[in-house]
Amino acid sequence: MSQHPVVARHRTAGPARWTVGPAAGLVPDPGCAACDRSPQQVEIADRPEVTSPEAAADVLVPRLVGADRERCIAALLDTKHRLRTVVTVSIGSLDHTFMSPREVFRDALLANAAAVVLAHNHPSGDPEPSRDDELVTRRLVRAGELVGVEVLDHLVVGGCRWVSLARRGRC
Ligand SMILES: [Zn+2]
Repeated sequence: MSQHPVVARHRTAGPARWTVGPAAGLVPDPGCAACDRSPQQVEIADRPEVTSPEAAADVLVPRLVGADRERCIAALLDTKHRLRTVVTVSIGSLDHTFMSPREVFRDALLANAAAVVLAHNHPSGDPEPSRDDELVTRRLVRAGELVGVEVLDHLVVGGCRWVSLARRGRC
C-alpha cells in the first residue's frame, strides 16, 4: 500500500496532454529490471510526445543512469508536448545539485519551450525525493507559471529507478 494520495490529472487545454494518473499512488514508480518496466532510451530526433511520467522517464532516466555526480537535466517540450531537446541544467557536487529558476528556465525560454520536465539523479542510488527536492520543485512550478513555461514533472532518479514528484502530488 502506498502512503501517497491518488493523483490523477488530465490537462486537456489544446492538443497537448499530460496524464499523471490513473495508477498514481497505487503502484510504485517503475524503473528497473526488478520492477515493471525499464526506461527505454528514446532519441531526441524522433520528437516523441511526452505525455506521462513514464514517457518522460524514457527520455530522461537513461541520460542520468551511471552519473557519478548529481546532475539536473530538462526535457524541453513544445505546445503539443513533443520533445524539442534535452538540456543539462546544472551539475552538482557529490551530494548537491543547484536548481535555480534562472538556470532551469534560461534554456527553456531560448528554445521557446511551452513545458519542461525536470530530472536529477541521486548518486546514492536511492530515488526517494528529499524535502529540498520537493521545495525546489514547488518553487520552480511557481516560477514557471510566471514566465509561461509549465513544469509538468520532476523525476528523481536513483540507479535505474525513479520517482515522479507529479505523481506524488508535489508539482
Ligand atoms: Zn534530490
